[in-house]
Amino acid sequence: MLRRTLVVAGAIALFGVFASAAMANHAWGTYHWGRTANPVPLTVIDTTSSAWTSYVVTAVADWDSSTVLGLTKTTGTANKRCAAVSGKIQVCNSTYGNNGWLGLASIWTASGTTHIAQATTKLNDTYFNTSTYNNPNEKAHVACQEIGHDFGLNHQDESGADFNTCMDYFSNTGTNASSTDGTHPNKGDSDQLLCIYDPNTSGRTLNSTSTTGRAHACTGTGHVDTSNSWSKTGAGLVARPGSENVLVTHSGRITKITIVRYANPIH
Ligand SMILES: [Zn+2]
Ligand SMILES: [Zn+2]
Repeated sequence: MLRRTLVVAGAIALFGVFASAAMANHAWGTYHWGRTANPVPLTVIDTTSSAWTSYVVTAVADWDSSTVLGLTKTTGTANKRCAAVSGKIQVCNSTYGNNGWLGLASIWTASGTTHIAQATTKLNDTYFNTSTYNNPNEKAHVACQEIGHDFGLNHQDESGADFNTCMDYFSNTGTNASSTDGTHPNKGDSDQLLCIYDPNTSGRTLNSTSTTGRAHACTGTGHVDTSNSWSKTGAGLVARPGSENVLVTHSGRITKITIVRYANPIH
């Protein structure tokens, strides 16, 4: 079975840019874990080194507080590529190079659906080993954001403004290194998970305001599915010809968004 790969990278913020507009919702497309009932029973395999353990533990606990997610954290090992594990979220760290991203979340969808079948989070120590990024608040922000993407969440904001959610591009570096804003999800994120996964929100709008005064609203599309997407086993994990990879990268003050459409399967 072919699966397509979508990649988004993230957490990574701009300085001195402020936006007043709130995003109406921050679902990542219509991607979600297909499941027959809530909460979604997901295993998060933590393969990170000890320098990341506490941040992964906190992020998983934060996301697990959602009523629609039932997370179990385990530990394991992975190769540098952080090859995905069917039906699970795998979290890795390594020195992935000066490639412009601090963290990268990837989801694979079951062929022909928007149902997530497996996902990974990669944390790039090439940057986190430097004094600029080797900061507890920035590490917490990025770990929380990339794991959040793996549930089908996008960013609440990409301007660099402080929404006090890990799903924004506020950067806990430089003069903001001591700020703990953005180190956890906020009410807008838990609302968005309900809008995606909870059938009781279908057609209803959930509103909230963050501690930094930023509004969030989403209208529910929640439903349950006829099968669990992770039970669909796939033979090779390749990008479907013509499928889209969305790559959002950020380094320092520069945010780069690249959409790559591959002509051939990527192995
Ligand atoms: Zn991101
Ligand atoms: Zn569905």
